[in-house]
Amino acid sequence: MLRIGLTGGIGSGKSTVSKLLAERGAIIVDADRIAREVLEPGTPGLAGVVDAFGSGVLAGDGSLDRAALAAIVFADEGARRRLDALVHPLVRQRSGELIAVAPADAVVVNDVPLLVETGQAGSYDLVVVVEADPEVRVARLVERGLTEADARARIAAQATDEQRRAAADVLLDNSGTLEELAEQVDRFWVERVVPATR
Ligand code: ADP
Repeated sequence: MLRIGLTGGIGSGKSTVSKLLAERGAIIVDADRIAREVLEPGTPGLAGVVDAFGSGVLAGDGSLDRAALAAIVFADEGARRRLDALVHPLVRQRSGELIAVAPADAVVVNDVPLLVETGQAGSYDLVVVVEADPEVRVARLVERGLTEADARARIAAQATDEQRRAAADVLLDNSGTLEELAEQVDRFWVERVVPATR
């Protein structure tokens, strides 16, 4: 099994790279998606969040009110740490379960937005960092529905390009077209992934 950690700042193109790698046959483990799954109604994760932050974080239908929770943890660093301490072990456990059922020769790509921030670079055979010019990222995020101020605030809250670069085994530049990105992913697959799985 080859374990690849895929990261990059918000709007850099991680999900796009994930899709390209999945087309090549990689198994994708998406940390954001798992983080939502472990807080679905009826889960121990959601019960833990309600214990910690009160029933004000629940919407009328009993699901998590993400905006209410975000408002709490955005304003309070200690609350954010308590939330992370609740959610991260659940995400790690679920990711481990998904990886445990993958075939021995699988290429497993973990899409982890905060890989560098949470110090996980050592958990992977290869760390792939997707980079794009910050102004290009802002424009793409605005196109995706964020306000410009929100896009800039989120970018500023994450690690810097320099910090991510220091953790990277492979850098993919996604400031250009999708075709240019796909070419880099193809080259990465042929030059780094295929030899490592032989
Ligand atoms: P991330 O997962 O890192 O936040 P995404 O892969 O979701 O980033 O990309 C952010 C947005 O930019 C998406 O709407 C995506 O379709 C778009 N996008 C990604 N790469 C390119 C590109 N090379 N050219 C144009 N749009 C792109």
